[in-house]
Amino acid sequence: MSGVISHEFEYYKPKDFGELSELLIQYKTKAKILSGGTDLVVRIKDGFEFPEIVIDIKSISELKELKFDGKDLFIGATVTFNELIESDVVKEKFPLLWEAAKSVASTGIRNRATLAGNICSAVPSLDSGPALLVYEAEVILKSNNGERKVNINDFFLGPRKTVLKEDEFVYGVNVPLPQKKNGGSYVKLGRYNGEDLAQVGIGILILEGNEYRIAHCAVGPVAARAKKIEQLLNGKPLDDPLIEEAKKLIEQEISPITDIRATKEYRIHMAKVMFERGLKAAVNRMNGKGPDYGEKLI
Ligand SMILES: Cc1cc2nc3c(=O)[nH]c(=O)nc-3n(C[C@H](O)[C@H](O)[C@H](O)COP(=O)(O)OP(=O)(O)OC[C@H]3O[C@@H](n4cnc5c(N)ncnc54)[C@H](O)[C@@H]3O)c2cc1C
Repeated sequence: MSGVISHEFEYYKPKDFGELSELLIQYKTKAKILSGGTDLVVRIKDGFEFPEIVIDIKSISELKELKFDGKDLFIGATVTFNELIESDVVKEKFPLLWEAAKSVASTGIRNRATLAGNICSAVPSLDSGPALLVYEAEVILKSNNGERKVNINDFFLGPRKTVLKEDEFVYGVNVPLPQKKNGGSYVKLGRYNGEDLAQVGIGILILEGNEYRIAHCAVGPVAARAKKIEQLLNGKPLDDPLIEEAKKLIEQEISPITDIRATKEYRIHMAKVMFERGLKAAVNRMNGKGPDYGEKLI
């Protein structure tokens, strides 16, 4: 990767939605939204993207909001991972999201990288994916025609593909507070501590009454819920034979590939190990025992 951006583009920094919408309507696929730039700038430098127009959304004040109304957490489009980590509400009420945010890259990257940018990049390894899926978050999309809300389950269409239309942008993400006592875990396997993408990522949320929500990233084209495993577990208290039965379903739920970060076989093997550790940690956390959120489980 060279340090120079050789591709030329025009740069706009709209102050409000009206200006942003007009630019998106005018330039359509020629335009790219710039938020933290940790993905987009690298892709422009590396010659994977050639936008004619780059629209920096960081001056739109509404998009900076991170607020909790007692029911939903609203994460505005330009809220960074470090802002999530520094939020007491996120840590106390949505600790699995907090744990996932802490697993992203390094402090330097997290100072710029946004959660909305993470889901818009839609790479299979996105660390925010499993947490948002198990909290059943909703993505709020806006355009000149108004607003629509998309369940995070339906947001990803494939690697780097989402339901976003060319004149739309992500306004923010709503994360509903689970209404029952719960415990969770996000287990991320990387090659080393630091700036590495997930080889496997597993998010687990267990709610009182034996309700299980399980999601994964980096082991299929998109981050997704593990519905077969959830069906098997739901309504049953966790014990070792049940965990063993559930582990047998993992190969049916995931479709990992071999790439520079890991082989398919290694990913399958580790997904099983991580699933078991994540489940046990989530149950313990629900019951007020350790390990603390943020403590490494793998
Ligand atoms: C060294 C390094 C390490 C990394 N490690 C990790 C990691 O451990 N885990 C991980 O998950 N990711 C990692 N990443 C990827 C990256 O940091 C994330 O995907 C980041 O969250 C993207 O957010 P951003 O604000 O920087 O987005 P940008 O780069 O500004 O944008 C990303 C894409 O989303 C679009 N976009 C952004 N915001 C909006 C919006 N509001 N509406 C519509 N489209 C929008 C842009 O047009 C662009 O296509 C890493 C990146 C680097 C460079």
